[in-house]
Amino acid sequence: TNRPIKRALVSVYHKNGLDVLARAFIKASVEVVSTGSTAKALRDYGVDVIDVSTVTGFPESLGGRVKTLDPHIHAGILADMTNPDHVGQLRELGIKPFDLVVVNLYPFEQTVISGADEASCIEKIDIGGPSMVRGAAKNSASVAVITDPEDYALVASRVENGSGFTLEERRWLAARAFAATAAYDASIIEWASTTWPRPESLTGDGHEPTTEDAASGPSAADETLFPRNLTRTWSKSHELRYGENPHQKAALYRDPLNLSGFAQADQLGGKPMSYNNYVDADAAWRAVWDMSPHIAVAVVKHNNPCGLAIGDTVAQAHLKAHACDPLSAYGGVIAANAPITMEMAQGVRPIFTEVMVAPDYEPGVVEFLRQHKKNLRILKVAQPPRSATQMRAIDGGVLVQSTDLIDAPGDDPRSWTLVSGQAADEPTLRDLQFAWRAIRCVKSNAVLLAHDGATVGIGMGQVNRVDSCNLAVERANTLADGANRARGSVAASDAFFPFADGPQILIDAGVRAIVQPGGSIRDKEVIAAAQSSDVTMYLTGTRHFFH
Ligand code: 5GP
Repeated sequence: TNRPIKRALVSVYHKNGLDVLARAFIKASVEVVSTGSTAKALRDYGVDVIDVSTVTGFPESLGGRVKTLDPHIHAGILADMTNPDHVGQLRELGIKPFDLVVVNLYPFEQTVISGADEASCIEKIDIGGPSMVRGAAKNSASVAVITDPEDYALVASRVENGSGFTLEERRWLAARAFAATAAYDASIIEWASTTWPRPESLTGDGHEPTTEDAASGPSAADETLFPRNLTRTWSKSHELRYGENPHQKAALYRDPLNLSGFAQADQLGGKPMSYNNYVDADAAWRAVWDMSPHIAVAVVKHNNPCGLAIGDTVAQAHLKAHACDPLSAYGGVIAANAPITMEMAQGVRPIFTEVMVAPDYEPGVVEFLRQHKKNLRILKVAQPPRSATQMRAIDGGVLVQSTDLIDAPGDDPRSWTLVSGQAADEPTLRDLQFAWRAIRCVKSNAVLLAHDGATVGIGMGQVNRVDSCNLAVERANTLADGANRARGSVAASDAFFPFADGPQILIDAGVRAIVQPGGSIRDKEVIAAAQSSDVTMYLTGTRHFFH
């Protein structure tokens, strides 16, 4: 099944590594056909190249849009040399077959990322390249196809020793080639469907838009968020040591069109990131940016905060966040939305911490952490989270939703409705706002107590809201010094209280103000419980579930 390589078609955008191929081609006297600047590069390495235009009898034209798109080329790629019919036809047509196709495509993604204008992006949509790649991949019975310069050394050795590739090898290369063109198309789709949303003239099914369509049909915005086909070009960054558990395998994939998201974090120190490290650090990262423009620090474990606080400095915010639940903070992930200072680094030094993530580190801090906390994974992330959609895999599918935003309508205290007690004074309102913004990083049923810009007790991960209220109060009051931190704090709940029993626990513990969405059929009872203790209660009308 081996097919020695006697004739090759080479058309590559990236000219790196061509010298390796050139040497092998010369040594094995391979006939090489090539496009414009690839031909020039190969000639410079001493290969006696035949220009594509010589084979096609047609000049490379339209500024490079038409080079290899020609039957003299494509019949040579697509002829199955195990099929006598094909062999005969080629002979009649005077076309020679290719045994090897080496192509790499115009850098479309990189052009988009560089911020190039629309016309430049369009010009970087390779047409002839993918056609050759797909043709060669389809015809793996006869042709070996190479799209990655990493494979040149392998090809060179097979050219030189005259063995070529076996059928199994050609098939494997073909599968990789199809993956390369699919990923290429996926990024074009992603770009085109966001750059060119559905125009109003094309809403409905072919008829003029009506007011009814406008009300019920998909809008241009929906199509940008939820395209007909979900074509993301995540590319494998690296495999992780294991998944959520040691017996699971795992890998990180990155979105090549987002070079600044959390998945693109720069690691400046420490052991490799684990699967759980990524999950927790991502949650912590989102939590601190929910506090923006305040300086904020979050300490996260198992995807839940054990403390979140704002402060005048990151060091102060960290102290406050850590103080919420020092027991749980052991082995946590720490995120900050401002550069880590030496003062904060010194504060973290005695605390066993898995990961630290921040937009930056002040001079000397990374070195300090590397020296004193050898295992601490130090991450730097360029951008706040900004994905427009969130995805979650279910068996056989993926759920996609628009990202839960802060600020969503109802997050602004000016839109809240006071339903019990006195209007909060300025500091209380600030704490209520903090608590409300903090609540959405807590996994349901989320109830948290806050004081002075810091969480002091968090109830999470319960299947009823009463247990979460109890947990929040218990956590607030379990510090070694016996302080009753629930008393005088404010509380937030991510969703409405279905009964008055939950808020009653908070009220009995001495909470002085509560913010919650409202909307329960028993709101009356819930509000009455607050009123009878003269506790301030606001309704936001918005909920922030986080499952
Ligand atoms: P060169 O640098 O050799 O002039 O061109 C190589 C690049 O052109 C490769 O990236 C290849 O995929 C692309 N290419 C080859 N043939 C065609 C064609 O007919 N049309 C377009 N648009 N690109 C082509």
